[in-house]
Amino acid sequence: MTPKALAAFSLAGRRALVTGASRGIGRALALGLAAAGAAVAVSGRNRAELDKVVTAIADAGGVAVPVVQDVTKPADCRAGVAQVVGALGGLDILVNNAGMEEVRPSLEVDEALWDRILDTNLKGAFFCAQAAAAAMKDAGTGGSILNICSLTSYRGIPTAVPYGSSKTGLLGMTRALAAEWAPLQIRVNAVAPGYFRTELTEAFYHDVSWQEAMLRKVPLGRFGQLDDLTGAAIFLASDAAAYITGQCLGIDGGTLASL
Ligand code: NDP
Repeated sequence: MTPKALAAFSLAGRRALVTGASRGIGRALALGLAAAGAAVAVSGRNRAELDKVVTAIADAGGVAVPVVQDVTKPADCRAGVAQVVGALGGLDILVNNAGMEEVRPSLEVDEALWDRILDTNLKGAFFCAQAAAAAMKDAGTGGSILNICSLTSYRGIPTAVPYGSSKTGLLGMTRALAAEWAPLQIRVNAVAPGYFRTELTEAFYHDVSWQEAMLRKVPLGRFGQLDDLTGAAIFLASDAAAYITGQCLGIDGGTLASL
């Protein structure tokens, strides 16, 4: 590989916003993008948790700022992007990671649960993307948006219907926005993580028989580690992926390929 090709993986000089970065996957992605050279805005609803992530990035030699926002509110999505542009001088990369899940039999799903999941995982991602794309369009420099999808973007999982609907919608949104914003040189891609142990999924892991059943679905024979996600996120955000848009990369130890 030539030095120029290798340099395309660097995010030096880029400004990124990672939503839902106070813990779990978002925290790992924020640390990863910062390690690759980006200045990173970390967002979520809990300022104290965000400050810890900012400190972790600074301790590793990176640059980070906290942004308090509730992505279920479009005004917060817009204000968050405005805050990032003010603090970092622009926005080149958005990672739509904020998400939530609550499993419940579909016959018991009420409107409040449906709205909470869809508003966070799908509506929030759209309005953050819209605000980010507006800023990227104004700057005229293009950009990269990465949506965090799921195995449920592709497969029907019982008792996860609102979540699966949100993540299937997010995959459709990824493709449609990629087509619509390509003329602006804004690339829109996604990753679909497999099984990662975080606060979101912690309760499942308390059940050893669940763990055994899930592991049988993973050809590589282990659950994901958060670091398994960072290389793909850096790649898709970087110029090394300059000709890739509208794609979703499974990061699942081979699960989707073998189901
Ligand atoms: P966590 O529950 O650990 O983290 C979720 C993050 O989203 C937190 O930082 C939380 O911050 C933030 N968040 C939730 N609701 C809102 C909101 N309304 N506004 C702003 N931020 C919000 O989950 P994971 O790290 O596991 O999940 C991250 C993403 O990855 C999600 O989109 C999830 O669907 C997806 N995913 C996870 C998988 C897994 O196995 N863990 C598999 C596939 C996809 P705060 O509460 O402080 O606001």
